[in-house]
Amino acid sequence: MAGTSESEKRFRFVVVGGGIAGVTCAEQLALQFPSEDIALLTAAPLVKTVTNFRQVSKTLQDFSVEEQPASILEEKYPNLKVIHSAVKGLHAKQHVLQTENRQVFHYEKLCLCSGARPKLLIPDNPNVLGIRDTDSAQEFQKHLSKAKRMVVVGNGGIALELVYEVEGCEVIWAIKDKAIGNTFFDAGAAQFLIPSLEADKPEKALPCKRTRYTTASKDGSGELGSALGPDWHEGISLRGTEEVSHRVHVEYECEIKTIYSQREGLQTVRTNSTDIVYAHLTNGKTFGCDFIVSATGVVPNTEPFLHGNNFELADDRGLKVNEHMLTSVPDVYAAGDVCTAGWEPSALWQQMRLWTQARQMGWYAARCIVADVLEEPIELDFCFELFSHITKFFNYKVVLLGKFNAQGLGSNHELLVRCTKGHEYVKVVLSGGRMMGAILIGETDLEETFENLILNQMDLSSYGEELLNPNIDIEDYFD
Ligand code: FAD
Repeated sequence: MAGTSESEKRFRFVVVGGGIAGVTCAEQLALQFPSEDIALLTAAPLVKTVTNFRQVSKTLQDFSVEEQPASILEEKYPNLKVIHSAVKGLHAKQHVLQTENRQVFHYEKLCLCSGARPKLLIPDNPNVLGIRDTDSAQEFQKHLSKAKRMVVVGNGGIALELVYEVEGCEVIWAIKDKAIGNTFFDAGAAQFLIPSLEADKPEKALPCKRTRYTTASKDGSGELGSALGPDWHEGISLRGTEEVSHRVHVEYECEIKTIYSQREGLQTVRTNSTDIVYAHLTNGKTFGCDFIVSATGVVPNTEPFLHGNNFELADDRGLKVNEHMLTSVPDVYAAGDVCTAGWEPSALWQQMRLWTQARQMGWYAARCIVADVLEEPIELDFCFELFSHITKFFNYKVVLLGKFNAQGLGSNHELLVRCTKGHEYVKVVLSGGRMMGAILIGETDLEETFENLILNQMDLSSYGEELLNPNIDIEDYFD
């Protein structure tokens, strides 16, 4: 690095974003080019690092994530400089970035990993919260500790986890679909999970070996922090003021139409004298509550980079990247929640803005930058061959493989289901006799065998329903 003035610096490689994608990318670059200085610019004071990485099977990965001070990363990689400053502008033609504290960074290759932020129903209403980072989770906890009733809008992973974890506060859960957890499950799996919402939670959750946060508080400057991941609620109490364990009421096939701060003239279905805000749903019902959580998905954080540059954006507003994680702007790569895969995906993979994919994309983007600089060929990484995700919902282990919800298969598929109430739910998606995807809830021990069957696309027509016969040891069968 050769500094040209105090506020102007030159790095061959610059990565923006201290989340999983950015940190993984910067670490890889630091390893690959030990004699080059790499800059990691990030808006938040803490960075996320992957620890306890475990390859569960060919494509399933499990790991812990820790929020750490940047110095730990710098100690590990002496050629990696972490700069705590938000980027406010990009002049891609000149290969220059500007930060909020008036520093200018010249780069040769840039990787944007600025993540995404929650789509908020109403951006500036103090009683409508989104959960994204440590700060917003703490704000949520503050509201919850005084609440009797909250309305949750959204049906993805965050909403699912929230309604299950919250105790001592009635939850009105408004979802636009016919079944809960539509992003991850079908109606059958939803039915399997619903009783967990009605039962008291187990005294102590089973030990979970994934994420642990060292939650250091930020300075409240409103900076953009990294997205939380699984177990974001670990270490914070999710209790309202009531004595109940769970009280969840689901309103299906509706969204919020209007939010009122006054009760006057409203026919509320449920109300307390202490209600602060009223959610009027598209099904005509109005609920009074203490606050509303908007968990309706995320929007990629692209704004600081768009002005004056010619980025191609996808329909979901992500930076479109090709099979080398390169955006439409020369020398600018992107990875993680901020980007949208623009390549023709494998028949068994889809992008979902998840932790695992942020790590995989960050890692692969670095490999692509290396290949580009060294003028070497590189093929799309194997991890993009098969979608796979391991997580926990309602205290059950959940494994999702391939086209687990028959995504994109139209009517050209059949389903096999095995379900033991309170124990396990297994669903297999078949198309033309070949396994295309699976949902495994509970300790099924089927993930490796099913992953192999999906990857090798063996014709399973002759097995029929025997495939899920609990009396057959399927692992031995296909050995
Ligand atoms: P992020 O982690 O969001 O990191 C973005 C980084 O960019 C941050 O460091 C930020 O400070 C920085 N930044 C932003 N703008 C700028 C700027 N202008 N200049 C400089 N730096 C900037 N995934 C799962 O797989 N499983 C789960 O169970 C799960 N649960 C979740 C629960 C919650 C509550 C949330 C919010 C998300 C959850 N996710 C889950 C999603 C997962 O956390 C994200 O997909 C993942 O963290 C994305 O990583 P990333 O590195 O792309 O972005």
